[in-house]
Amino acid sequence: MKTSLFLYNSFSRIKEVFKPLDKKNIRMYVCGPTVYDRAHIGNARPVLVFDILFRLLRYLYGEDNVTYVRNITDIDDKINAKALQSGVNIESITEETIEWFHKDMDFLGALRPNYEPRATAYVSQMIEMITKLTSLSFAYPTEDGHVFFEVERFADYGRLSNKKLGELNEGVRIENEDSKRNPLDFVLWKPSTNEEPGWDSPWGKGRPGWHIECSAMAKDILGEQFDIHGGGIDLIFPHHENEIAQSTCSNDMKKFANFWLHNGFLKIEGEKMSKSLNNFLTVFDLIKRDFSASAIRYNMLSTHYRQPLDWKFERLAEAEKTLIKWNNKKESRNEVDLPKQVLNALLDDINTPLSIYEMHQLYKNEKFADLNKACAFFGFVPKGRKDHLPISPELSKKVNNLIKDRNNARLSKNFLLADKIREDLLGAGIIIKDSGQETTWELSTNLEIKKLKEL
Ligand SMILES: [Zn+2]
Repeated sequence: MKTSLFLYNSFSRIKEVFKPLDKKNIRMYVCGPTVYDRAHIGNARPVLVFDILFRLLRYLYGEDNVTYVRNITDIDDKINAKALQSGVNIESITEETIEWFHKDMDFLGALRPNYEPRATAYVSQMIEMITKLTSLSFAYPTEDGHVFFEVERFADYGRLSNKKLGELNEGVRIENEDSKRNPLDFVLWKPSTNEEPGWDSPWGKGRPGWHIECSAMAKDILGEQFDIHGGGIDLIFPHHENEIAQSTCSNDMKKFANFWLHNGFLKIEGEKMSKSLNNFLTVFDLIKRDFSASAIRYNMLSTHYRQPLDWKFERLAEAEKTLIKWNNKKESRNEVDLPKQVLNALLDDINTPLSIYEMHQLYKNEKFADLNKACAFFGFVPKGRKDHLPISPELSKKVNNLIKDRNNARLSKNFLLADKIREDLLGAGIIIKDSGQETTWELSTNLEIKKLKEL
């Protein structure tokens, strides 16, 4: 590794030198989407911010030494409400939304995480964690089938959001007030009616609360302790506070994540984005308006990730012009080797606006080769070019080679082998499409990077 990476840790509220728990396996967890609607530009912000951090960690420690997990919340009351209101079943809604999410984020050139666990696949691990919390008296079941975490039992509760219990109590949404011991106690498990999705549990048929999803999935994939936990600033309280409480108390009081990183809010033309103001902007809207992925990335990264971002179309148009100017000086685009000034900016708490400033300087000083290398790192490619691979170039080469092997097997009438290769790829999340002489491939909604690497 070249120099030290400094990251602002929301937990300690200072910039700290990043020291991985294991240099050979740096682990990062970021809270992902709840899948019931198209991703808006505010949802795209953490995806792009943590995409840059993922790229930076891979650059510093090696591609195979970073594990990135971003969950998919496919159990949620908003999904149930949409199913009820639209008459479409829950699986169809979540499957379709996951497909949209992948298409939109692939378009933006965000690398796919190594794991994208879905809550529905981890209910047994959640039940196990809740059982442990109740047996240790950190949580209590109620007669009506709820299980609550008792915040007063965890001395560090409020540490991430820097608030005392009394302060947090103000303005907390009162739910199931009757059965809770403290209004801040939060739900780990709740009963389901026959119309709602439900799983059998020691507390009757029900479903998990949102917070326990992340604690259980992070533990299952990354272990009890890992390096970085990220998400939007709005998740600090209560979501991340609650994740810390659950995980710490069920993991023998071990520290959960070492670093907590949060990106700031996003506004549109100075206004808060909301359906009522009619300024709700989805990534798909931007794609339909023919903005390039690079310009969207550039615009998003022009503001430091911790600052509030004001999304302005004027700036997006300027970004498009800048990238055209830079791309006219295009030399080799494949080599990712960060020029010193750009790297130094990134090492200082992912200072992307400073990196972009340095890229302008490189242009001004006619250092075009360096500029191109930085562009490759940031995923800034000429408009209309399809270099936005959601998987690494190495993996995509691997897929192409396997497809060649398969086509050769077919030519020599070894259909058993040909089918096996197709099945193996499908199992890892790669769909092969034959049309005439040509074979193309695309990613399914169940891409599994680990399986793909092992093929
Ligand atoms: Zn989470």
